[in-house]
Amino acid sequence: MAHSNISIFVTHVGCPHRCAFCDQRKITGTTDLPRGEDVKRICAEQLGMIKDPAETEIAFFGGSFTAIGRSYMTELLEAASQFVGEGKFRGIRLSTRPDCIDREVLSVLKSYGVSAVELGAQSLDDEVLNANERGHTAQDITDAAELIKEYGFELGLQLMVGLYKSSRRTELENLEKVLAAKPDTVRIYPVVVLGGTKLAELYESGEYRLMPMDEVMDICALMLERFEQAGIKVLKCGLHASEFVERDMVAGYYHPAFRELCEGLIYRRAFEREIKKAGIEKGSAEFMVPSRCLSKALGQKKSNVLFFRQRGITLRITASDELEDRYRVVKITDVGR
Ligand code: SF4
Repeated sequence: MAHSNISIFVTHVGCPHRCAFCDQRKITGTTDLPRGEDVKRICAEQLGMIKDPAETEIAFFGGSFTAIGRSYMTELLEAASQFVGEGKFRGIRLSTRPDCIDREVLSVLKSYGVSAVELGAQSLDDEVLNANERGHTAQDITDAAELIKEYGFELGLQLMVGLYKSSRRTELENLEKVLAAKPDTVRIYPVVVLGGTKLAELYESGEYRLMPMDEVMDICALMLERFEQAGIKVLKCGLHASEFVERDMVAGYYHPAFRELCEGLIYRRAFEREIKKAGIEKGSAEFMVPSRCLSKALGQKKSNVLFFRQRGITLRITASDELEDRYRVVKITDVGR
């Protein structure tokens, strides 16, 4: 199902402190806090403009929604709930911290028609959580995830790849732990170090050394592939393109087409496996892919074609409107050594 949001930012509201990597003002480019009247105005405007409101949710992002002062929280929910239902939007989506979830607040969210709760998990490793000043444990994440599912909400988990004190091993363990938690959706954010954050200080002092971009891309591609195989929808892979992020980042893994790069890598790996299976070292390999995946299979700027050419393999890709599988091997030909 297509998925879109009307994003309303409650920048840092409810956050008990500032996590080491976070500056929502720079990520969202927003500082003003909406009132209920603003929510109504935005929803009314969008309802008139959006083609398929039944596929769209009103989303409160950028803060710790369930820790917002109760009267402000219900003011926002009350306003949004008037735009949910028959002929209107599909539901209300929000993001919050794992340690700000309990039965009482989930009951309140239910009563206003909230459909999805996303947890900023970031990592499921206690050392990484602690080093990045999250202020909660991995157990808080799994407990909150269970409770959210028990109350019948769609569960989303947000992960940050490459944080301070994280390694390939921790990220791969995070992947398995998220799969075990069985969320409905995930967002994969490779770290972007924003100026003025604690993480930027650690980076500038040399204490925080980032993994190479290739490594992080490889991990994110693996996550993307495994989550999709498990039927978990990946809503984001890479921070959304924003002039603020490009202006304010001091280091990290930002690329406006990050997901495309990961998808190209997934295809490259699959083609490599098939070529290896065929046991050839030099020759040509032809694959068919669904038309919508042609550019992913070729890789950005045909990087997959180049990758195999440098290894003595001519990669040919044809597109089909009928193919439902990810790809099909057409012919792999050995031209000898
Ligand atoms: S990561 Fe989440 S909890 Fe931490 S400061 Fe940012 S919005 Fe608040």
